[in-house]
Amino acid sequence: MKSVVILVADGVRPDTLASAVARGDVPAMAALSRDGSLSTVTAAFPSVTGVGYAPFLLGRLPGPAGLPGLRWFDRCGSAWTPLGRSRSYVGIEMRYVDADLTPDAPTIFELVPDSLGSLSVIQRGLAASRRVARGAGFAARAAVTHFLGNLQGWLAIDRALATTVARRIREERPAFTFAAFTGADKVSHACGHDAPEVISALQVIDDCVAEVRRDAERAGRWENMHLWVVSDHGHSAVDGHDDLASWARALGIRTLAHPWVIRRAGRADLAVMPSGNAMAHLYVDLARKGRPWWGELEEQWGAFAGELIGRPSVDLLIVARSAGETEIRGAGRGVARIVRSGSRYSYRPVSGDPLGCGEVERASPEHALAATLGTDYPDAIVQIASLAGSARAGDIIVSARCGWDFRKRYEPIPHVSAHGGLHRDHMSVPLLTNRPTRSTPQRTVDVMPSALRALDVALPPMLDGYSFV
Ligand SMILES: [Zn+2]
Repeated sequence: MKSVVILVADGVRPDTLASAVARGDVPAMAALSRDGSLSTVTAAFPSVTGVGYAPFLLGRLPGPAGLPGLRWFDRCGSAWTPLGRSRSYVGIEMRYVDADLTPDAPTIFELVPDSLGSLSVIQRGLAASRRVARGAGFAARAAVTHFLGNLQGWLAIDRALATTVARRIREERPAFTFAAFTGADKVSHACGHDAPEVISALQVIDDCVAEVRRDAERAGRWENMHLWVVSDHGHSAVDGHDDLASWARALGIRTLAHPWVIRRAGRADLAVMPSGNAMAHLYVDLARKGRPWWGELEEQWGAFAGELIGRPSVDLLIVARSAGETEIRGAGRGVARIVRSGSRYSYRPVSGDPLGCGEVERASPEHALAATLGTDYPDAIVQIASLAGSARAGDIIVSARCGWDFRKRYEPIPHVSAHGGLHRDHMSVPLLTNRPTRSTPQRTVDVMPSALRALDVALPPMLDGYSFV
């Protein structure tokens, strides 16, 4: 029977994995790369955990999946949560993800009922008995570990999950397994992406790879097993924390931001919702129920946007003029527009070329990616168009300059490294496969259609990715 196992090494950069493979730090993964492939693909924007799992499990980018960010403002009040219309998927609030997912895209758990999921932020369609790391006991342990900023605690959780996942694959033989390991991301935030602790976190995953492979070879299942290791976002060093919510309040704007989203709800004019924290959605005119476009907001909020792009922390500022037309401003690099028409993407410099890729006219998703691969913003054309035009996106989206992020207070782990933004350090991730791929993997959103192809399951419509199997 065919099977697919996907292990997510959360927040691991391609260069980190490649050098660990070359040094012999992760022998089981090195063996996979010799038989199969180790490539660099682009993640989804916002480049942040949870949101970044939608491509793996729905084959959709975050905007169309209904998860525009780790934090976002629910203008339409589409689901009830105790935090009102401000959404955050940090800690136990992850439980609201499934309700927020678009109902029109099936998860791979719904398409492949014989699935196992571990630490999966997205669980829709995954049977309760097939959820590793579920229940109040695990949630309490994870919450305590999170809020105490306990790094060894996260690695211990990864180790326990790795053992359980390998055992359950051996015993239950699921057709599809999705297991996330968040230790590398936690230690990267606290110690830097090049800290030795990140290698320790990778070695936990390597042990899991070794055990799953050994078991499958013994049981004669390895020939029909696809085993992939992938990451959902990158990381880069940060030493400037520009707390946008505090800045906006200092300007006299009544501002809503986590964690004080209940006390200030109902009397705020601006919501600041960072992810990662090198990107943020900013929502204005919070009383409006439907999504406004920038043309309606520009008169009142244009000067504010002008001040925002002038901040040293802001690299790119994005506003949507319609679902299909987006404006991008680069700090000191002028304005350009992205126009999406069906599955064709145009990027037209207006007063500059903030993405640095030159004009692109009516390109396919593949060609739009190719046009940006050599720049600082791989895949930015498709990613910006997809997110900024989606129903739940912020009215203003900002991506941070390298070395900066947008949140200073209330982080349990001190952030010396960040992600979330459009820069290549955040958007480039490794993809390791145990056998050669038919075509070159390009994006994390290609993983889901590839897994379905490997399992001979028909692909649902409207996917944002393409199979490399
Ligand atoms: Zn993170």
